Amino acid sequence: MHIPSIIERKRDGAILTDLEIREVIGCFTRGEMPDYQMSALAMAIYFQGMNAAETASLTRAMLESGEIMKYPESAPRIVDKHSTGGVGDKISLILAPLLACDEVWVPMISGRGLGITGGTLDKLESIPGFRVGLTREEIIAQLEAIGVVMIGQTGAICPADRKLYALRDVTATVPSIPLLVSSIMSKKLAESLDALVLDVKFGTGAFMKTREGAVALGEAMMAVGQSMGVITKVCYHAMDEPSGRSVGNALEVVEAIEVLKGGGPADVRELVITLASEVSRVAAPQLREWLDDGTAWSKFREMVVYQGGDVASLDNFAAVHPAAVVREVQARSGGTVSRVDAETVGRACIALGAGRGRAEDTINPAVGFDQIVKIGERVERGQVIARIHAGDEAGAERAEKQFLGGFLCD
Ligand code: URA
Repeated sequence: MHIPSIIERKRDGAILTDLEIREVIGCFTRGEMPDYQMSALAMAIYFQGMNAAETASLTRAMLESGEIMKYPESAPRIVDKHSTGGVGDKISLILAPLLACDEVWVPMISGRGLGITGGTLDKLESIPGFRVGLTREEIIAQLEAIGVVMIGQTGAICPADRKLYALRDVTATVPSIPLLVSSIMSKKLAESLDALVLDVKFGTGAFMKTREGAVALGEAMMAVGQSMGVITKVCYHAMDEPSGRSVGNALEVVEAIEVLKGGGPADVRELVITLASEVSRVAAPQLREWLDDGTAWSKFREMVVYQGGDVASLDNFAAVHPAAVVREVQARSGGTVSRVDAETVGRACIALGAGRGRAEDTINPAVGFDQIVKIGERVERGQVIARIHAGDEAGAERAEKQFLGGFLCD
């Protein structure tokens, strides 16, 4: 098939056939379609959209670009959660080991940072030595031993998403329902799940800015999940302020560890419990107990050991990635916090070096924000409303201006 003609057809609003979509994904995965053609097609899809049949074909083609997980007959119930992406969203780091405290398997396939949102893989890789690219045999062995594994797309599992995800991140083609649905659902379907909970975000720090947009996305994902026999639950959550008090790769691991040890910000803890309850066989009180009594924390540590991470580093993780500059941002006046704009914080974080401008960029795990105040809290003039972790003074200066531009208290 002539790839430029397929791009042209989508650019002009045509409905692509299943064959065309399969051809494109096959060529792209095999390296026979260059990134510039795929970027152009992604932008055409962004503007022209795809109908339900095209979205289903795209999801299936991406799923079938790699292996689909097969488990032994004796495997227990297989569950997972996926978020559509938000600023400060470290839920997966806590939820995956928490779910695995019960007799289920959690084979979580995640992504890297995307647009203004951070990615679970980048966060996990801030743990020295942590490996997110495991073989099928390693995945099964780890599930049999501890019930949880957190990995990325590889050359074998969802290779099409691995390549397209990285392109979308740097070509402003993330917030497109067919591209979001196919990316998320191809990974989740490759896990051969029994049950999945989707955390669909809406608001300034999410790809879907409105609740209506989020519902359209949630319903499209649910339709694909159910048509493939996976019990698919959808929860909708506002993302107008960052989740928790930290944004940035290593800083979010620090906060996730606090929650795994029974502490941490209340909004993060409650969101973990809400989402976990949707797919767990046990109820919320038991899940809370596993956070409070160290069971989930032990499970997380076991996972770090299995995946080659330096478990000793977790004991004082805040010291593992010291930023060159740590600057306190102070409130210019007192009052009740009414705005901590998630999109502004996400963009400031990318500018600090926490995300990528080009697919080949490396990220700085140390940078970001912590000690961020929450909407509804009272602050006094001069009180610290956030701390910036930056690579240099100029970056900290810029980030402070950005942060204050998205902050209001009255
Ligand atoms: N998470 C994914 O895996 N893909 C997306 O496109 C967005 C969030």
